[in-house]
Amino acid sequence: MDLSVVIPLKNEAESLPELATWIQRVCETNRLTYEIVMVDDGSTDDSWKVIEGLKNANPAVRGIRFRRNYGKSAALHTGFQATEGEVVITMDADLQDSPDEIPELVRMIREERYDLVSGWKKKRHDPLSKTIPTKLFNAVTRWMSGIRLHDFNCGLKAYRGDVVKAIEVYGEMHRYIPVIAKWAGFSRIGEKVVEHRARKYGYTKFGGLERFINGPLDLMSISFVGRFGKRPMHFFGTLGVLSFLIGFVILVYLSIAKTVYKEYGIADRPLFYFGILALIVGTQLFLTGFIAEMINRNSATRNTYLIEKEI
Ligand code: UDP
Ligand code: MG
Repeated sequence: MDLSVVIPLKNEAESLPELATWIQRVCETNRLTYEIVMVDDGSTDDSWKVIEGLKNANPAVRGIRFRRNYGKSAALHTGFQATEGEVVITMDADLQDSPDEIPELVRMIREERYDLVSGWKKKRHDPLSKTIPTKLFNAVTRWMSGIRLHDFNCGLKAYRGDVVKAIEVYGEMHRYIPVIAKWAGFSRIGEKVVEHRARKYGYTKFGGLERFINGPLDLMSISFVGRFGKRPMHFFGTLGVLSFLIGFVILVYLSIAKTVYKEYGIADRPLFYFGILALIVGTQLFLTGFIAEMINRNSATRNTYLIEKEI
């Protein structure tokens, strides 16, 4: 199969029929064999009914329904696991991304041999409350990751099939998939200017303030896990040993001051408290590193979701 289109969706019933026929039309005119994987992220409207209807009309449609709302990252992850296509394209369900971009994205993955091509909504049709924070977000992510993309969080992206099987997206990390891919070793990351359209039906699901806190925290986790996830001791251990040594040297010095030079009242010196603190913090950091190493050996349950139905 040439192509899998993964569509995470929550309460997008009105948009789905139009989207599905549009994708079908584009794939058929370009002679691409395809599947459309719709992941219903706990919708409370008629989305799942609509998906069942689309499945009956077109066998290329597949649907997965979560028992509750887990978030866009979880939906993408589960959709990725299900794909069979040689190229995988993700797309928002709200018709803000245009299926007309599909052929060129497929070509870039296949012929220009990119691991990942991210869409760039150069001309955006969203309110200022979304576009201004996004500029800041992209600048910080570019700076922290060293990846030269303009629009990290674009819902429209294309991947080579094996890339999506190799990366793990959870929490709110769908914003940073290029960073995750880079850390996983897929460094051929490209960009394509894509058409962005105003939302036709429904409302945005990412209008709240949480994204300003969760987003940066996720970026820190990704960078940290990417760098030290497989060897936490190198991070915590280094800091721990360093801190412990500093504390140790200070306390040895103070002990000599007391026993050899008969200095009284070393417990009144700020240095004394600093030395003890450094010793304790050092031990804590070292133990944290040790525990992290133990956990690292036993973690496989991070991405388990309750799936209600699958067709
Ligand atoms: N979405 C989802 N789960 C959620 C929130 C959103 O699957 O918990 C889907 C949503 O249905 C849409 C896509 O993620 O297909 C992008 O969401 P939205 O259009 O609301 O974001 P915006 O374009 O406003 O940033
Ligand atoms: Mg949208």
